[in-house]
Amino acid sequence: MFEIRITGTDKLNPYEELIKVFLQPSEYRLIGADDDAKAGELIPKAGAGADSEAIIPLTYRFDGDSDAVKRQIYRDLEQHTGKSPKWGILTGIRPVKLAYELTYGQRRDASSDETAVDSTAARMRTDEILKERYLLHPAKRHLVQEILEYQRQTAGEPAERSLSVYLGIPFCPTRCLYCSFTSNQVGTPEIRRYLQALHREIEYAGAAAAEDGFRVESVYFGGGTPTTPDPDQLDRLLEAMERHFDLSQIREFTVEAGRPDTITEQKLAVLRAHGVDRISINPQSMHQRTLDRIGRRHTVLQTEEAFALAKAAGFDCINADLIAGLPGEDFPDFAQSLERVTALGADNITLHTLAVKRASRLKEMDENYNYKQEVLREEMLAHAAKRLREEGFAPYYLYRQKHTSGSTENIGYCREDKISVYNIRIMEERQSILALGAGGISKIWFPAENRLERIANVSNYEIYIDRIDEMIARKRAKFFGQTTR
Ligand code: SF4
Repeated sequence: MFEIRITGTDKLNPYEELIKVFLQPSEYRLIGADDDAKAGELIPKAGAGADSEAIIPLTYRFDGDSDAVKRQIYRDLEQHTGKSPKWGILTGIRPVKLAYELTYGQRRDASSDETAVDSTAARMRTDEILKERYLLHPAKRHLVQEILEYQRQTAGEPAERSLSVYLGIPFCPTRCLYCSFTSNQVGTPEIRRYLQALHREIEYAGAAAAEDGFRVESVYFGGGTPTTPDPDQLDRLLEAMERHFDLSQIREFTVEAGRPDTITEQKLAVLRAHGVDRISINPQSMHQRTLDRIGRRHTVLQTEEAFALAKAAGFDCINADLIAGLPGEDFPDFAQSLERVTALGADNITLHTLAVKRASRLKEMDENYNYKQEVLREEMLAHAAKRLREEGFAPYYLYRQKHTSGSTENIGYCREDKISVYNIRIMEERQSILALGAGGISKIWFPAENRLERIANVSNYEIYIDRIDEMIARKRAKFFGQTTR
């Protein structure tokens, strides 16, 4: 048992995020400056079930440099546990964004007149900082810089007043075991009620975006599972998007079809007819026993059929999500799923590490699931990185999740430069995101201040329906009409 005391600050959260990378919650106590009284109570008493447990005290003082404290914590826990997390002291979810800011400052155009020598020098400086200040291992430093440069070549900088539009459909046929998203299982009448409210938000936001001079760069339908509504409902929804937003200049229109059991030839035809060019078909695993275990309620065959239908329908880019570390899966299971999805002809493969979050049923079943899977997950991801590169894929975006132990991350791979510009923009945080529907979190970007402001819709779809006027009023007050130049 570690008793970790940090004085000089009452903000312990950033340190605890790092401590959790090394230790399970039951293995430490974190004590702040004002917790002296509590500390005595927290130490297990002899005979209280922890009599043979040694206390390892670690004490730190914050003097204005939180990274310095984190480096000390890292070094000490590395020594005590034998673990050496490859992301160093970084616990944030956007390491590529950090590398961008270190290398290029707040904003610089990819086609600016910086010389090759300057770029090289800047990248070397970034590498040094990632190593010395953040303690990143060489493989992670290289990965972050590789992805950053690839994004600059392929996505470029977001244009001034460009906009990503997100639209949330918070419904799925069933709820997966690990799900912590907004996902409801309802019938057609409820979906109809929701879509009526959503249409109102689309109508308002489309007109307001045009008035504000925004140009839509990409559209992303997420959820939930956006292909849960029936073909007519989807048709009307897409028609509303076209009527109220100027989509003539967009680079990408994604619908995260997600669950193969919601994909039909008719729905795919509707999507294509409205210009959707990128979809996700997310197998998560190509093993039936795993799908049954995690409550996906679709078959491997349905995934294969969905791919065949989508190819025949002419989608330019098909993404497939796979999850490393699903319950009951070993290394060969994961490796087989990867081979099968690659063979299906996916253009993007997004590798997720299973993050067991508070709201999931799996978390209720096994509090320490994340920690038990740590080593296996890393082996799976390392194998996938090697195999995907052999198959001609390149990593194009990356984010880290909270709630995973160790040093894992989620990475999107693409072939033939078929990136998802939306995914990149979300992680860059240098563009406004207009999010419609229940659970949507809009972000307005203030470039001069390098700052985003969040405007959230309610996540409960019934409350969203009831309070649609308020959602629209929030956008009017906080998203539109802002001076952001
Ligand atoms: S498909 Fe996604 S959003 Fe729907 S229940 Fe499963 S994990 Fe949740």
